[in-house]
Amino acid sequence: MASKDTICIQGGWQPKSGEPRILPIYQSTTFKYGDSDHMGRLFDLEEEGYFYSRLQNPTCDTVASKICELEGGVAAMLTSSGQAATFLSIFNICGAGDHVVSSATIYGGSSNLFTVTLKKLGIDFTLVDPDASEEELAKVFRPNTKAVFAETISNPALVVLDIEKFARLAHSHGVPLIIDNTFATPINCRPFEWGADIVVHSTTKYMDGHAATIGGCIVDSGNFDWNAHADKYPGLTTPDESYHGLVYTERFGKAAYITKATAQLMRDLGSCQSPMNAFLLNLGLETLHLRVPRHCSNAQKVAEYLEKREEVAWVNYPGLPGNKYYELAQKYMPNGTSGVISFGLKGGRETCVRFMDSLKLGAIVTHVADARTSVLHPASHTHRQLSDEQLVEAGVQPDLIRFSVGIEGIEDILADIDQAMAAAK
Ligand SMILES: *Cc1c(COP(=O)(O)O)cnc(C)c1O
Repeated sequence: MASKDTICIQGGWQPKSGEPRILPIYQSTTFKYGDSDHMGRLFDLEEEGYFYSRLQNPTCDTVASKICELEGGVAAMLTSSGQAATFLSIFNICGAGDHVVSSATIYGGSSNLFTVTLKKLGIDFTLVDPDASEEELAKVFRPNTKAVFAETISNPALVVLDIEKFARLAHSHGVPLIIDNTFATPINCRPFEWGADIVVHSTTKYMDGHAATIGGCIVDSGNFDWNAHADKYPGLTTPDESYHGLVYTERFGKAAYITKATAQLMRDLGSCQSPMNAFLLNLGLETLHLRVPRHCSNAQKVAEYLEKREEVAWVNYPGLPGNKYYELAQKYMPNGTSGVISFGLKGGRETCVRFMDSLKLGAIVTHVADARTSVLHPASHTHRQLSDEQLVEAGVQPDLIRFSVGIEGIEDILADIDQAMAAAK
């Protein structure tokens, strides 16, 4: 297997002789066929091919295959956003009356999706403390539990997940483990190697890396045996009447989950990525293996610097020895976690806001994980829908500053923090 570095550059698009060197943008809603029967076979999923870009597009599929290779999966699809990826990953195997176990320390958008919108669709979530013991966690499973969901490194609490523990729990209850690997990226961690079954990404973050495009991706490891738990997953193991009674696991084997998500959910919900965005995402992916280590080394230096400053009340970065998650981070992400740090300043909320307002190089944006240093106050921005109680449950202190360290010169980033701290006093 090629190294991750080589996959970043050369994965996906494999031009034949005389074809473009660079991934072409198939900016076309539709595809032409010579005879009507051929098109009919495509609609019956009897033959592979393109007919309408809401379902599949060659540019998008090529970029999905690069991410699939990076994660070590068997099939993948791009989505219009990370939110769409998370939604489809769950909705592909759950419906009204089902239940999902999720870590409580997840992205605010995901917890809204789970506890507000999916609840309206009749899917019930139990949010759990990811650090609870296996015995405690086993208690929340029900006969109708269909999946377990968690983040490799949670946004913004930076909880590092014990992936093996969660995989054991999921598998002993006959359900797959879905991991949001947005922060770690496959450069730092491949969840499939630790037992996860499905990975989702917001490609909007490090993968794009330039804050240019919103996007998402779902990758399937192909390892979960849907047929062994056929009664739980009738959508995959019994006839789909909307495709003349085809059974996904019979016809598509290890690609059943992604094929169903594409053929059924993309067809009906249409949250596809545009070919242009997929092209831009691919440019980002070509340098992912260079940018991620630089984000991590810059963040490590910022975290160490903050720890020494007397203005700082606390610093949370899993790369710091002494951090609650240092050992788990060393195990699952020995080359670094991410470029995101959280910390609080003495003086509380007002001082934190003055500090952020005084940054010159670091910008206040609703974003993380791109090339530019950025900063956000979750309690007043991304997580403002959550009550104080929910904030603490999600691992977010009211004075938490989420600092996304970019790949600028480290001396400039440190100088900016220094001047903003002086101004915030
Ligand atoms: C941003 C983010 C999402 C949502 O992705 P969008 O592309 O903004 O829809 C999901 N999970 C994590 C961990 C994120 O950081």
